[in-house]
Amino acid sequence: MKRLLLLAAAVAAFAAQAQSYPGSKPITIVVPFTAGGPTDRVARDLAEALRKPLGNATLVIENVAGAGGTIGANKVAKANPDGHTLFLHHIGMATAPALYRQLPYSVENDFSYIGMVNDVPMTLIGRPNLPAGNYKELSAWIHANKGKVNLGNAGLGAASHLCGLMFQNAVGVDMTTVPYKGTAPAITDLIGGQIDLLCDQTTNTTPQIEGKKVKAFAVTTAKRLTTPALKDLPTLQESGLKGFNVTIWHGLYAPKGVPADIVAKLNAALKVALKDPEFIKKQEGLGAVVVSDKRVEPAEHKKFVADEIAKWAPVIKAAGVYAD
Ligand code: ASP
Repeated sequence: MKRLLLLAAAVAAFAAQAQSYPGSKPITIVVPFTAGGPTDRVARDLAEALRKPLGNATLVIENVAGAGGTIGANKVAKANPDGHTLFLHHIGMATAPALYRQLPYSVENDFSYIGMVNDVPMTLIGRPNLPAGNYKELSAWIHANKGKVNLGNAGLGAASHLCGLMFQNAVGVDMTTVPYKGTAPAITDLIGGQIDLLCDQTTNTTPQIEGKKVKAFAVTTAKRLTTPALKDLPTLQESGLKGFNVTIWHGLYAPKGVPADIVAKLNAALKVALKDPEFIKKQEGLGAVVVSDKRVEPAEHKKFVADEIAKWAPVIKAAGVYAD
C-alpha cells in the first residue's frame, strides 16, 4: 500500500512538472561552438522565436566549444533531463560517430530529439588578398601552391571540417587544416589573412561576402542559391567538382529522459517558432531554409539523423580521417 502511495505521488509530481514547464527557471540552449558564429546565430534567433510559445520563458545561450562540437554534445548528454538544458547542433551530430573512435556519448541513445530547425548551404571563401578572382583562378593557385595552402575549420566533426574534407578530396590536393573552436574566430583570421580558405555556413559568411570582407568562390550546394547576396555565386559542381554537394542542417535536442509531455511542449513551441515570420526572414536572409516538412517531428528527425550517419560514415571512412 505504502509503495502504491509513493508511486502515485511520484506520478503526480511528474505530471505537475510537465504542466508547469518551463516555469520561472531559465532554459539553457547549449551551442557547441564559439559565440558569434553560424551555429550560435541560429541558436540566438531560435531562442528569440521560442520565447513566446514557451510562455515568455527566459532562454539563455551557453557556448561550450571545442573538439568539433563533441564537448558540448557530451555535456548535454550528461545533463539533467528536466527540459531546462537544450542543445542546438548541426550535421556534426551525425558525422562525429564516424570521426571519433571513442565518442563519450551515444547520438542514438543519449538524447531526446525535439525536431529539426533548418537546412543551410555552405560557401567556399578565401582571404581578401588571395590572388584569385574566381574559382578557376583559385583552382590554379591551389595546384601551384601544393603543400602551402591552409584551410580553417571548427575542429574534427564540424561542418567546416566535413566540407573542407570533401573539398580537398574533390580537388585532389591535401591542405593544412587549422582548427578553431568555431568559425567566428576562423573567419576573423581569414579576413586578417592568417588562413587562406574556409568553407562555412552561409549564416556566417553572407554578411562578410556582402561587405566584400572575404573572397567568395562558390556555394557547396547542387544548385545556385536565391539569396540576393549569394545568387551570383557558382556551385562547386558547375565549377568542375563533379557531384560536389554539401548542405548542412541544425536540430534541437535535450538529454535523454526528458518527460514525454515536456518533449511534446518543446516540439509544439519549435513548430510555432519555425513559422515565425521574423525568424524565417532572418534565416532566409542568411541563405538558410527553415524546415517545413516532417523532419520537424522528433521521430522523423531522429530517423533523418540516423540516415545522415549512414550516409556520411562510408565517405569519412574512405577519407581515412579519425580521432582517438
Ligand atoms: N560553422 C562551424 C562549423 O564549421 C561551427 C560554428 O562556429 O558555428 O561547424
